[in-house]
Amino acid sequence: MLINVATLLQEPVGHARRYAVEREAVAVPEAEFAQEISGSMRLIRSERGVLVTAEFDLLPVSVQCGRCLEMFETPVSVEFDEEYVFDHDPLTGKRVEVDVDEFRIDNQQHLDLSEAVRQYEESALPLRPLCRPDCAGLCPRCGHNLNTGPCNCGATASDDRWSALARLQERLGTEDGDGAPEA
Ligand SMILES: [Zn+2]
Ligand SMILES: [Zn+2]
Repeated sequence: MLINVATLLQEPVGHARRYAVEREAVAVPEAEFAQEISGSMRLIRSERGVLVTAEFDLLPVSVQCGRCLEMFETPVSVEFDEEYVFDHDPLTGKRVEVDVDEFRIDNQQHLDLSEAVRQYEESALPLRPLCRPDCAGLCPRCGHNLNTGPCNCGATASDDRWSALARLQERLGTEDGDGAPEA
């Protein structure tokens, strides 16, 4: 989403404009990022460019549950203040010092919110998403998704107990056998 800030850049520092944003597409193809933003933003002329104050709701994002590993959609919204700076002064055309990681206003005096939305979406997503607060997760033994009901490996668990007993009995039996062999 490109915003033309040419007229805003003619305004004195501190001058602000408010915009409503309705389902505008943003994309960063090299990061395989595509989203849609709705909400509002304020653009304020700053000394070095334009300060963007934004509040956007995004399309739900597909994430993987940290417990049951199922994919599910989570709503996401972002809020940020970012300054977009020009590397050439729009009035004098003189070069301006700019840090490499600063958001730029391009030579056509457009600014693109896509990369900022991508970064803020990334930090807005939960580190360990849960498909629901009480997600039952996976059975640690058989990997069955316990949200869909109990698993069938309970039988295996008791089998294991019995086989441990059987092994113990075997060992005891061998020791008995060492003493006095049965007739
Ligand atoms: Zn889950
Ligand atoms: Zn199981």
